[in-house]
Amino acid sequence: MSDDVDVPESHPRYESLLTRHRIEAGVDRGITSRQGLIAQGRGEAYDYLLGERTIDSADRAARAAAAYLLSADHAVVSVNGNAAALVPGELVELSEATGADLEVNLFNRTEERIERIADYLREHGASEVKGLTADGRIPGLDHERAKVDADGIGDADVVLVPLEDGDRAEALGEMGTTELVVDLNPLSRSAQVATVPIVDNIIRAIPTATDHARDLRGDPDAQRAAIEAFDAEAALTDAEAAIRGGV
Ligand code: ATP
Ligand code: MG
Repeated sequence: MSDDVDVPESHPRYESLLTRHRIEAGVDRGITSRQGLIAQGRGEAYDYLLGERTIDSADRAARAAAAYLLSADHAVVSVNGNAAALVPGELVELSEATGADLEVNLFNRTEERIERIADYLREHGASEVKGLTADGRIPGLDHERAKVDADGIGDADVVLVPLEDGDRAEALGEMGTTELVVDLNPLSRSAQVATVPIVDNIIRAIPTATDHARDLRGDPDAQRAAIEAFDAEAALTDAEAAIRGGV
C-alpha cells in the first residue's frame, strides 16, 4: 500500500487529510490500534482550534525539549502506534540529532504490534529499537501497562512521550523522570504533568524539536538558556488562550 495517496497539496486541509490517511494506513499495517483512530480525532479537533499552526509557546517548548534531550544522562524517545504511523522517519532523525534511544511503548501492548513498529522504525533508518525486552516496570501501573525496558525508559532521566496517556504520564513523573510530552490538548493530564508540554501536532512538533536540537548541539550554555526560558504553566495558559481567542 502506498502512503500519502490522493491528497492534492493544494487542498486547504492537506496536512489534516494526510495525517488521517497515515493513521488509517497504520491501522491497516497493524502498527496503530483502533483506539488510536479515536485519539487522532481528538487531536485533530484541538489542532483545528489552534489554527493548525505551531504557536510561539509550542516552539519554545520544542526548543526546551531538545535542550533536555541533549543534556540528559540517558534520554529516551518513547514511540506508540500513532507516533510511529505519523512520523517514523522524523522520530529517527530526532533520536539521531539528540543521541536519545528509541523505545516502543504501547498502551495496548501486544508483542506483535511492538515488533511491527520496531520493524517500521528500522525501515525508516533506526539502527536500534528498544521495547522488546520489557524487563523493567513503572511502579504504580497495572502489569501490561507498566512494562518498559530496564536499560531504556527504566533507566532514563529524560523521556519524550508523544501522545502518552495520562496515567502513565503521571506514573513516570512519580519515578522522578523528566517528562517531555507532545499533546494538542493543554488540559489533558499528560500535558499538565509534563516538565515540558509541547502543545502542537506531533507532525510539526518532532521536526521542530530536531531543528532546535541541531542548533543547540554542543552548546551547553544555550541548552541551559532554552530550559530556563521555558515556563510550563505559562505555555499551557498560552495554548488555552490561543484556542479560546485565536491569539
Ligand atoms: P488524559 O487526561 O488521561 O491524558 P486524554 O484525553 O489525553 O486523557 P488519550 O486518548 O490517551 O486521552 O490521549 C490522546 C491525546 O493525544 C489527546 O489529548 C489528543 O489531543 C492528543 N493527540 C492526538 N493526536 C495528536 C497529534 N497528532 N499530535 C499531538 N497530539 C495528539
Ligand atoms: Mg492524555
